[in-house]
Amino acid sequence: MDVITELEVIEFDHSVSYGYDASGSPVPGTAPTRSTRRFGVRVHTSAGIVGEYVTLWSAPPTATGQIAACARAVVGKPLAYRERFWDDVNRSLTKTDRIGYGAIDIALWDALGKTAGQPIAALLGQYRDRLPAYVSTVGGGHGLGGLATPESYRDYAALCVERGVPGYKIHGPGTGKVRDEVAALQAAAEGAAGRIDVMTDPGQTLATLADALRLGAVCDEVGAFWWEDPMRDDARLGHQILRQRVRTPLLITEMVRGLDQRVELAVSGATDFLRADPELDMGITGVMKTAHAAEALGIDMEVHASGPAQRHCMAAIRNTNYYELGLLDPLSGNPLLPDVYADGYREDLDAVGQDGCVGVPDGPGLGVSYDWDRIGAQNADRRVFRGSP
Ligand SMILES: [Mg+2]
Repeated sequence: MDVITELEVIEFDHSVSYGYDASGSPVPGTAPTRSTRRFGVRVHTSAGIVGEYVTLWSAPPTATGQIAACARAVVGKPLAYRERFWDDVNRSLTKTDRIGYGAIDIALWDALGKTAGQPIAALLGQYRDRLPAYVSTVGGGHGLGGLATPESYRDYAALCVERGVPGYKIHGPGTGKVRDEVAALQAAAEGAAGRIDVMTDPGQTLATLADALRLGAVCDEVGAFWWEDPMRDDARLGHQILRQRVRTPLLITEMVRGLDQRVELAVSGATDFLRADPELDMGITGVMKTAHAAEALGIDMEVHASGPAQRHCMAAIRNTNYYELGLLDPLSGNPLLPDVYADGYREDLDAVGQDGCVGVPDGPGLGVSYDWDRIGAQNADRRVFRGSP
């Protein structure tokens, strides 16, 4: 029986150079640089397998505070026991958001895939091998420069049409003013010209139900494919009202941790679609539990964010629509993701094929290889948790 002998956690710096001035013009080397911490996980087994995963943009740096508790649940145990680990962590970290476990579960799936010589999607039970993609923009308020005006949202939508990308979701200006969100959405719809699906995601920046209803009316006017997290929090009644008044399908639960909490919101009629993310929701195991719960309820589940784990999950889910390719900026591509791969794996427009889809890595496990030398050179700290086979 293959046993987990060691779990490594490598934290490293990820710097994003904005590189643009307030007008959106490129200014190399003069713009401020924002730095954050990311982390990777390596799981070693008694059979010599190494399962790996590096977090991209969902898991916050604080998630590593839960790693020691998660390590206790898995080190020294059989690799096969992922359901048991999920249950142990789900219970023992019940007073937390449990985000620290996501990367570990993904690395465990990577190890299992490498053991079996199969991609994770095949082990989950594959439903598709091409994933229809939508460009998910950076927020206009991030100061990245490419989406400073409604016209820039319009032009980027037109570029997506030209490039054959079938979906386009805006993260609006993020000012908290509904007029700004409406202007960006109307411009995006104008650029899409009915040829691709348009979505909007204010990211809970609207403070009132009244503002959300106003944006919802515009979603209906432009025929949005879905609208996402329009207002503060995830209160049941407020979202039931939104669903009664707005025809466009509502997608929430990106901000909701806990499988039971997400499913409860769906059952109570507070959302049309469910959201789950392998980094935030206890890994590939957590996403698939959410997807299957949604399937039983007869609703869709959209995988949140980009990355190899997301691709394998979506490949194994029937009741889902789009792969979130993001967060993209028309000037700087994908500036927010750390470049951690040794094999050219990419999350940008170039990853979209002529069919409007991205592929699923077909190598064993996640099917990607990491450049640990480059990661290690970024002010990395390494912690190791060991256990006897
Ligand atoms: Mg979102």
